[in-house]
Amino acid sequence: MAATATEALRTRVLGMPVDVCPDVFEAACVLHGRGGGQVVTLNAEMTMAALADPNLGAAIEAARLVIPDGAGVVWALGRQGFRVRRAPGIELAHRLLEHAAEAGWRVALVGASPEVMARLTARLRQELPGLRLVFSAHGYQPAEAWPALERQIISARPDLVLVALGVPRQETWISGLPQRRSGLWMGVGGSFDVWAGTKKRAPRWMGALNVEWLYRLLQEPHRWRRMLALPQFALAVLKNG
Ligand code: UDP
Repeated sequence: MAATATEALRTRVLGMPVDVCPDVFEAACVLHGRGGGQVVTLNAEMTMAALADPNLGAAIEAARLVIPDGAGVVWALGRQGFRVRRAPGIELAHRLLEHAAEAGWRVALVGASPEVMARLTARLRQELPGLRLVFSAHGYQPAEAWPALERQIISARPDLVLVALGVPRQETWISGLPQRRSGLWMGVGGSFDVWAGTKKRAPRWMGALNVEWLYRLLQEPHRWRRMLALPQFALAVLKNG
């Protein structure tokens, strides 16, 4: 089943939309050119969470681009006859930051701890000196601070907004913002922690063996309950044919 170089083909995994496209970076750039929208990085854990949380489900449904970030989703797509490569959200987000620095895109960063945000912005200024960082805010603001932050970020007219508030909050926060805004808005989970150097990504060989989840579990054992979603996802996919 083919998708053209830039046009994504939308299919579904356990009812959640997923876009099959040969190059997720190209697809994101096309979306930016068309006025932007929300980008979701779907994995098995998020799919199961969305089945139990209608707000998250609605946010994913409304997203303009949903990329298969996770071996489970890629496997489920394979069962439908789609041969796709896993598209880790952290890699797409970094590629978009590099592109932003070259293209003069306006960039906003939201989320992570105050320390991580401070380290991240300092690192990005060094690594990508051309980056136009027009807004940044850490993710532990008091509830009453958010409405003003939301107004500020929208009036900064960003081309790219990376949001590290964790699932489901980052997805529902983005989808709850006023619709009349341009740019790409993407939830990035723990990416800021990795880029700031406070968390490590699984070694490449673990990614290749599709056992990145095991590394995550060893690094953050409190995740074990959330990870029960993985076998549940596999069973549900098998049951649904
Ligand atoms: N976070 C935040 N505010 C909160 C809760 C979490 O900014 O109230 C940040 C946290 O510091 C981390 C990110 O959200 O940088 C979530 O990372 P995690 O690896 O848990 O992402 P998930 O697996 O949920 O996508």
